[in-house]
Amino acid sequence: MTANIIDGKQIAADLRASTKELVTEFINKYNNPPTLAVVLVGEDPASQVYVKTKTKMAKEIGMNVEDHFFEKTVVEKDLLDLIHNLNSNKDVNGILVQLPLPDHIDSRVIIDAIDPAKDVDGFHAINVGRNSIGGDLLKKTFTPCTPLGCYLMLKQHISDLKGMHAVIIGRSNIVGKPMAQLLLEESCTVSIVHSKTKNIEEMTKQGDIVVAAVGRPLMVKKDWIKPGAVVIDVGINRIDDPETGKTKLVGDVDYDGVAEVASAITPVPGGVGPMTIACLLKNTVDAALRQQG
Ligand code: NDP
Repeated sequence: MTANIIDGKQIAADLRASTKELVTEFINKYNNPPTLAVVLVGEDPASQVYVKTKTKMAKEIGMNVEDHFFEKTVVEKDLLDLIHNLNSNKDVNGILVQLPLPDHIDSRVIIDAIDPAKDVDGFHAINVGRNSIGGDLLKKTFTPCTPLGCYLMLKQHISDLKGMHAVIIGRSNIVGKPMAQLLLEESCTVSIVHSKTKNIEEMTKQGDIVVAAVGRPLMVKKDWIKPGAVVIDVGINRIDDPETGKTKLVGDVDYDGVAEVASAITPVPGGVGPMTIACLLKNTVDAALRQQG
């Protein structure tokens, strides 16, 4: 079997196009574009690239972006003051604090200071709770962008997820846990495995769906995957490339091997990454629309 490639770039482009239409309607109706405030602390190169890409994509669909940059020595109070100002600014619809923050800042304190109605990353404890309870509360929350992107790609590929066994590798608050909740809501049977799980490949081999969100390059091998399974690779890892003498990006999944047994797989790059940004833009427009009632 050779897996179908789940084209995250294309699905993300379609989502950005439909979001752009919502932005245009919003501007026509309210005379102002939806506005996303982005907060970046320090000079971590990966974070700088993410913020630059998010800003560029948001502007491309007509949204307004306010960047707030701080030195890595910033004190918690200055960040909290900014968040409080953004919360009370009616022209700001969404607030994104790029993680990770420096060690001397308590990320939980900063995230929980964001107005849940502007928390377009869906990391505020109230939104986490609403995602966890599910049902009608999903209309009032924001689902974290990376798992939402994975979910939308899965839905394009599998129309009815009910009863499928999804195995998620990783239990972080930003990917693994919210991914599990989304799939539970779709009536999947969900297993989460992590660094303390024994015989991990025995678990992944049972999955009709496997989502890898680990941060270990090429960890998931061909013999970890049930033939015909759908594999979503969230990992972004930079490794040396002996062929070019440079570095390259790879996922958590050994793509070439796994593509021989899976029925569908997301590539890295070009899979989950573009979907994450597209979902952030969609969440921001949703925030703006909800704030207008
Ligand atoms: P975290 O480091 O927060 O979580 C990693 C998870 O993997 C943890 O639950 C950890 O287990 C588990 N883990 C680590 N080693 C192993 C192992 N050997 N076997 C099984 N499980 C293991 O990472 P994130 O969730 O934030 O991100 C995961 C990956 O996804 C990273 O590569 C990151 O760069 C990428 N990412 C990509 C995004 C995108 O847009 N494409 C967005 C966000 C993340 P334990 O809890 O026991 O420590």
